[in-house]
Amino acid sequence: MAPRTLPNELPRRSIGFFPTPLHRLDNISAQTGYDVYIKRDDFTGRNLYGGNKIRKLEYLMGYALEQGCDYVITYGATQSNHAMQTITAARICGLNPVVYLHSVVDPDPDDLRANLLLDSIYGAEVHIVYEEEGNPLSAKERAALAGEARMKELEAQGHKVYNVPVGGSNEVGVCGYINGYLELMDQLDAMGKHMDYLFTTTGSGGTLGGLVAGKVLSESDTKIIGVCVSPKADGYSRAVTDLANRGLEHCGADCRATTEDFEVDGNFYGEGYEIPAPAATAAIRRLAASEGILLDPVYTGKAFSGMLAYLDQQKLPKGSTVVFLHTGGTTALFAEHAIVGPVNEDAK
Ligand SMILES: *Cc1c(COP(=O)(O)O)cnc(C)c1O
Repeated sequence: MAPRTLPNELPRRSIGFFPTPLHRLDNISAQTGYDVYIKRDDFTGRNLYGGNKIRKLEYLMGYALEQGCDYVITYGATQSNHAMQTITAARICGLNPVVYLHSVVDPDPDDLRANLLLDSIYGAEVHIVYEEEGNPLSAKERAALAGEARMKELEAQGHKVYNVPVGGSNEVGVCGYINGYLELMDQLDAMGKHMDYLFTTTGSGGTLGGLVAGKVLSESDTKIIGVCVSPKADGYSRAVTDLANRGLEHCGADCRATTEDFEVDGNFYGEGYEIPAPAATAAIRRLAASEGILLDPVYTGKAFSGMLAYLDQQKLPKGSTVVFLHTGGTTALFAEHAIVGPVNEDAK
């Protein structure tokens, strides 16, 4: 069978290495009694610190280059994986990266860590926006405004700036995960496996939206479960569906997704974004000890703890084949202690 492809060919700049590996988790499978696999989108990039944003950025950079842009601007938290990967992608494409980062956990300027350290090695234009007591606007809101102002300034100087939304989640970026889902289906076909369940971390929703769109496009009956890393507003499933459908439209597909095509599980983020959760800490240690694979405390540790809850409590039908999408982010293990949490407590 020929590999599955998007209906229309879209501008795409090669940045990562695809297909990413898909392999079985033998020890987790033995512990839980399910047939468990992992899709390694932590191995997408030019360096060890890739992740899910690289798939989106291949299409986003393709679009920016086609538009003749010379600058790329984006947003995120100070330890944003998305910002760091956007900077990497911009450097590969010869575009100038600008990022506006809001501080959730304040960094120490004399001891930059993890993604913030990488951002500075890449020589990106980095602006950090802190919370201000008495300011009615949050750091995130002020970062968005400051970014807009910087974009206008650059445009007034004759530059063309591509504005990458938070998480790279627009109709262009989503196509990266429509394609990612098709890639995964090809791999499963080659292995003679039917994927009953697919678990992924969900934040800005572009990854989940793309996977859902890919599922609809390939007429797959896999149950997709997105595990949230922060509290979500009521309309979240609707917003993810809209992203999926904007992606389908953008790549020329006639089919459309509905909110029935996936589930969102908001039970595993603990107290909130970038706050370590005990179950996630335990999941990080368990996967490391069982399989030698590392997860991160902000995203994948929380999603994996969610999947383990389904498996350990035998909530899925016996004999199910389950895939976990590893979206990357493990640089966070080297971030500020408030973000990492007690991952090595027993070792102390
Ligand atoms: C950004 C990110 C996610 C969430 O992806 P969205 O497309 O924003 O939902 C998941 N895992 C990691 C490691 C990320 O950096």
